Amino acid sequence: MNVLRFTDLCAQGKVAGQRVFIRADLNVPQDDTGRITEDTRIRASVPCIRAALDAGAAVMVTSHLGRPTEGQFKPEDSLAPVAARLGELLGREVPLVADWVDGVQVAPGQIVLLENCRLNKGEKKNDEALARKLAALTDIYVNDAFGTAHRAEATTYGIAQFAKVASAGPLLAAEIDAITKALAQPQRPLVAIVAGSKVSTKLTILKSLAEKVDQLIVGGGIANTFMLAAGLKIGKSLAEPDLIDQAQAVIEAMRARGAAVPIPVDVVTAKTFAADAAATVKDASDVADDDLILDIGPKTAELLAAQLREAGTIVWNGPVGVFEFDAFANGTKTIARAIADSRAFSIAGGGDTLAAIAKYGIEDQVGYISTGGGAFLEILEGKTLPAFEILAKRAAGG
Ligand code: ADP
Ligand code: MG
Repeated sequence: MNVLRFTDLCAQGKVAGQRVFIRADLNVPQDDTGRITEDTRIRASVPCIRAALDAGAAVMVTSHLGRPTEGQFKPEDSLAPVAARLGELLGREVPLVADWVDGVQVAPGQIVLLENCRLNKGEKKNDEALARKLAALTDIYVNDAFGTAHRAEATTYGIAQFAKVASAGPLLAAEIDAITKALAQPQRPLVAIVAGSKVSTKLTILKSLAEKVDQLIVGGGIANTFMLAAGLKIGKSLAEPDLIDQAQAVIEAMRARGAAVPIPVDVVTAKTFAADAAATVKDASDVADDDLILDIGPKTAELLAAQLREAGTIVWNGPVGVFEFDAFANGTKTIARAIADSRAFSIAGGGDTLAAIAKYGIEDQVGYISTGGGAFLEILEGKTLPAFEILAKRAAGG
């Protein structure tokens, strides 16, 4: 995808003295007193902000935080704690500006943080009048907020339509590059792991990937529904019997392309869903009526690991078992290790997937870890995200 890159504009000397508006994702978790409990997103946004300051721009930064009601300021919606933390990271004061839509005072070399953009009336609905006012504040618009790239809002879409220049910040550009490398021009074989609890939440992803990948590895509750589709018994395991047809359609679509959905050959079962439940390894054909399948078995894990070691590209979303319980974590751990050891370019995303990556300490061995959450899943669904679409359109002269 061809978009204008903010770091290129900086390198070309086009940023000095310009008014730069950065839409960042500073939506951090906070405790009841407003204290920031986890600041990854603020730290991740620093390179873009620093690049703008170093290039001599007058820098405005904004983000949403939580779910405020538009037009109704409440103290808990304020970006004040974010301004303080950002100031520490930048080693300079970051003034917070409220009621900023009609004009912002900021000089080259200075930075201001503009209060929670979801307080502005019309933000969520991408109101054109608001978007035009935002665009009028700036010479160069920079979107560096991948987490909201799947939403067309005034600070993610409308402003990009009307700003003199609209560009992608380094975080957004890195996501675009990783996704292009994994899905648009992948090294083959391309292997996807789509696992987790429910087929229903990932059906569109399964269907979309079934048209692209060479192996579609299913796991978790999703694998249980695919086992049903393959005619296997799964006892009391989590599954969605009403989606058996859909699972069969995915298997068929893959087969028609000469690709495959590997069905587990063995599983780890329990009689209750509990961390201390006794774990029993069984062949996939031996599952009893009162069994719960909570993980893929060791033979299956090894077969899948071998495929991952041979892959050219790996896309991972979803743990293949209840990895929160150690007795049922082996499958997910084996997959994680195989991804880490593979020479393939890998991308991973999803809330629980990120937790598994952290649990097994493979952060540095995954090619790209998406922090996008919903935006990442929409990419896997084959959608073009609105924020990408408008930046590409502007780059093409539209
Ligand atoms: P992600 O957040 O990475 O997209 P999901 O939310 O779809 O992943 O799924 C993760 C959840 O699925 C985990 O909490 C895990 O315990 C659960 N899970 C995995 N395998 C099973 C299984 N066999 N039975 C029940 N739950 C499972
Ligand atoms: Mg989840």
